[in-house]
Amino acid sequence: MGLLSLGTPLPWDEAKKYADHVRYHGISQFLNIWDRLKDRTGDELMWGDEIEYMIVNLDAQSKNAKLSLCQTEILNRLRPTTDQLDTNTDECIAIPTFHPEYGRYMLESIPGSPYTGAITSLLSVESNMRYRRRLAREHLKDNEIPITFTSFPRLGAPGVFTEPYYDPSDAVSSQSLFVPEEITNPHVRFPTLTANIRRRRGSKVAINLPLYFDENTPRPFIDPTIPWDRNLYPEDPEAKNGAALPDHIYMDAMGFGMGCCCLQLTFQSCNVDEARRMYDALIPIGPIMLALTAASPLWRGYIADVDCRWNVIAGSVDDRTEEERGLKPLKENKFRIPKSRYDSVDLYISEHWMNRPEYNDNPLPFDPAIYDRLRKHELIDQDDTTSTDHFENIQSTNWQTLRFKPPPLNSSIGWRVEFRSMEVQMTDFENAAFAVFIVLLSRAIMSMNLNFYVPISKVDENMSRAQKRNAARDTKFFFRKDVFSPPSSRTTSVTSSGAASPIDGSHTLPHHKERKLRNCFPAFPPPEEGWPNECVQNEYEELTMDEIINGTGAQFPGLLGLVREYLTTLDMEEDEIRKIEAYLDLVKRRANGTLKTPATWIREFVRSHPAYKFDSVVSQEINYDLMVAVDEIERGIRRVPDLLPTDYTGGAHDQGTLTKKS
Ligand code: ADP
Ligand code: MG
Ligand code: MG
Ligand code: MG
Repeated sequence: MGLLSLGTPLPWDEAKKYADHVRYHGISQFLNIWDRLKDRTGDELMWGDEIEYMIVNLDAQSKNAKLSLCQTEILNRLRPTTDQLDTNTDECIAIPTFHPEYGRYMLESIPGSPYTGAITSLLSVESNMRYRRRLAREHLKDNEIPITFTSFPRLGAPGVFTEPYYDPSDAVSSQSLFVPEEITNPHVRFPTLTANIRRRRGSKVAINLPLYFDENTPRPFIDPTIPWDRNLYPEDPEAKNGAALPDHIYMDAMGFGMGCCCLQLTFQSCNVDEARRMYDALIPIGPIMLALTAASPLWRGYIADVDCRWNVIAGSVDDRTEEERGLKPLKENKFRIPKSRYDSVDLYISEHWMNRPEYNDNPLPFDPAIYDRLRKHELIDQDDTTSTDHFENIQSTNWQTLRFKPPPLNSSIGWRVEFRSMEVQMTDFENAAFAVFIVLLSRAIMSMNLNFYVPISKVDENMSRAQKRNAARDTKFFFRKDVFSPPSSRTTSVTSSGAASPIDGSHTLPHHKERKLRNCFPAFPPPEEGWPNECVQNEYEELTMDEIINGTGAQFPGLLGLVREYLTTLDMEEDEIRKIEAYLDLVKRRANGTLKTPATWIREFVRSHPAYKFDSVVSQEINYDLMVAVDEIERGIRRVPDLLPTDYTGGAHDQGTLTKKS
């Protein structure tokens, strides 16, 4: 996660003195990147995923599943192995990279080299993911498993939830009542960041997730697992003084959020203009994909009434002071800040004519001096032409649904956009399906000049709806009525069943089919009748997930219909089409409700467990059985036809083979 420079980060009181320095030079460094690279163009499609794992230790004797705090050891064990490994040339899988993450029980893996636009590369995504999982698995102990699970159900619950055990009373950096210091990656960045977020805010972070009330859950619910009278940190007795709300699951540390796993995708664009277009187009897709991949209904030993991690992470790094949060009049601070530094995107950034100023309808505080510097493009320090550390420092501590990644200096890498809202899925079949769906959608967006703009305040509203229990089934989302541009520029329709009819001349899909997903699309001129000026409120409506993905009929083919239309431009073999169709079918069935989201499945697993007392509690035993089930599902040993297609055969199949270098 982000920049891991050598050196010692400063405590907040010290760091604060340098904040303006970092901002000043961060801006200079950005301007320098801009100067050198704004005209860079012609970069081919390259893209990649990031998958995060939790390492779970299964103790069959005590029926306890614990988080194994083994990140350092595993990375050490993986390093010499990945150094030695060579890939079987037939499989074309480069040696993957493993990264540390915030939680000391977490790992992140990325492909050894990014995927390209080749269709063969697209079809290698799943085996690449499976191969990485297998590699991780091979370096664990016999009773340890790597799971791709968004939130660990008993993190911070009473009893033993880490291996080895540590008492939460030692949590100096977070001052948490629930999670020990040792759940945090020991690299000095992480405890310092944890402590500095608390110090900057002026109190511990406070996350309150609504509890899922079951038949026997007491009302009001005053959480008996909160040590209300234990004064671990006399200067910080917050649970007692109102930080913990009744009827909620209270969490008080960065680890609850940053200790979650997710699935991220990064795409390289042809140039900065296309990157800005892509960034904007994917902003409204963020909450839709969050709801469709929802996978985290269990928190600190309880069932929550939400299905996703988002608000937990946002709250877990919310370092705004009371003044900045609007609870007190501004005195020490300059600005009211509407959101946490981890939240949905604040601003559309494309200069395309489609991006009307009305879409940026959220009030945004900004520093006029910095804005001026950016506009005037002031001359820059010499050092800032060789380093980007200060810029990366700012960039890597702002976590939004999309991240705009400028090219690193002196590298072959171009302008990139990262899609960050999705929850990680339990199987790599699902992870690959969503990755493939999004990369195809990204091509559809550019090649058909699709317009997904809705006011950004509506995207925020969708973010909040996306996290509600069963949102994919029960909630409607704001979505643009006419996604074609110029508006209704199509004369033929596509049905989501896959029968795409040829499109009319105003699109520029290539006439001959290609074996490659491309970058660098021709620019579309503004419509002849002038720039769009319809009232923005008439441009969107509320649609169900099924309608958004599978379409509303002729006038909107759904995101899948658009993807299928794009697919008609690719030259694919029959077995390749079958594989892609299997991914698209998963997306389709999630959206139409014939397959459950992981969140729904997980909640139902707990509620139908024989030991469940219908009191909202996820006991140690239920958690153990759930973790075993998750592992068995991934390996294809346990069949779950309400969650996965019946022909899912498990992660052991279809994996890249390895050969050792002699
Ligand atoms: P971060 O944690 O900062 O988001 P990572 O290094 O963990 O970054 O992941 C970067 C992702 O981008 C990986 O999936 C990698 O394969 C992919 N990637 C690498 N090079 C490129 C490139 N030139 N264009 C697009 N994606 C790339
Ligand atoms: Mg990560
Ligand atoms: Mg990463
Ligand atoms: Mg990332």
